[in-house]
Amino acid sequence: MKPQRIARGLARRFAPVLAALLLVPTLCAAQAAPEASAVLRRIADGVYLREGRHEPWGAGMRGPVANGGFVVGRRCVAVIDPGGSLAEGRALAAALRRVTPLPVCHVVNTHGHPDHVLGNAAFDTRPASGAAPEFVGHHRLPAALAARGPHYLNALRRGGNATDERIVPPTRLVHDTLELELGGRTLRLRAWPTAHTDADLTVLDSASGTLWLGDLLFDGHLPVLDGSLRGWLDVLGQLRTEPARLAVPGHGAPSTAWPRALDAQERYLVRLRDDTRAALRAGMPLEAAVERVAPAGDARWQLVDDFHRRNVGAAYAELEWDE
Ligand SMILES: [Zn+2]
Repeated sequence: MKPQRIARGLARRFAPVLAALLLVPTLCAAQAAPEASAVLRRIADGVYLREGRHEPWGAGMRGPVANGGFVVGRRCVAVIDPGGSLAEGRALAAALRRVTPLPVCHVVNTHGHPDHVLGNAAFDTRPASGAAPEFVGHHRLPAALAARGPHYLNALRRGGNATDERIVPPTRLVHDTLELELGGRTLRLRAWPTAHTDADLTVLDSASGTLWLGDLLFDGHLPVLDGSLRGWLDVLGQLRTEPARLAVPGHGAPSTAWPRALDAQERYLVRLRDDTRAALRAGMPLEAAVERVAPAGDARWQLVDDFHRRNVGAAYAELEWDE
């Protein structure tokens, strides 16, 4: 068998391992007790952000690692990405109650990764009251949660007393676009083709121009590829036309520099694509490519050791079919 064929065979065999690495998040050694109540920040009129810290999600996390928050209308409130555990969801619910007495009518998930969805359970009041907000997500989110949800729950349970954690899938699906009326303001939801994951959704608040991008945008935290590299670059091009005044990434700081806020991540992804493609053309086996393809060095990315090799592996598995 030619070396290139062997490399491709290895890539195919290695792809499930890479996927499993993404499924089973890094479990940090026991650290400080979780601080579920992170600081809530008002980033626009009626728009509140709880910013995550740059850490891998897992049982050892010290608080929210992903951004989340809520938008307050005249009639009701929409929560976006309520966090990575039941405790984080409850802390966000408590913080919300200090801002407004209005009911929560929607809980929107930008995609299916655990740091964004495990907080849903805190807002699912069906068992107690028979009523609950609408849980809204991409039309492919139910399948993503069905496939990976059990792994997420096991990861938390291995870390200790997480027996109450549960997956709450969407009750309303977005196939293309969907508008949610909160009273005096409308949220415009848009479901995207496979990019960061296969179930990415953005939320644009009409009143403030705030665009919640979920993990279609990373700032500071190294981008994590779990969908399609080519697809993500296509989606970034389309996102540039969104009429946003304030961009909220899934990880990192909100930015008014729109669409320039996308630039650093796009450079990382373009370099990842081009260098991985060059490695494939040179016949480099996956194991060597994973070690040698370097991250683009113009942004001070954090968590490179946690995610970059995994990104190269995912890019290699996707792009080898082009070569
Ligand atoms: Zn994600």
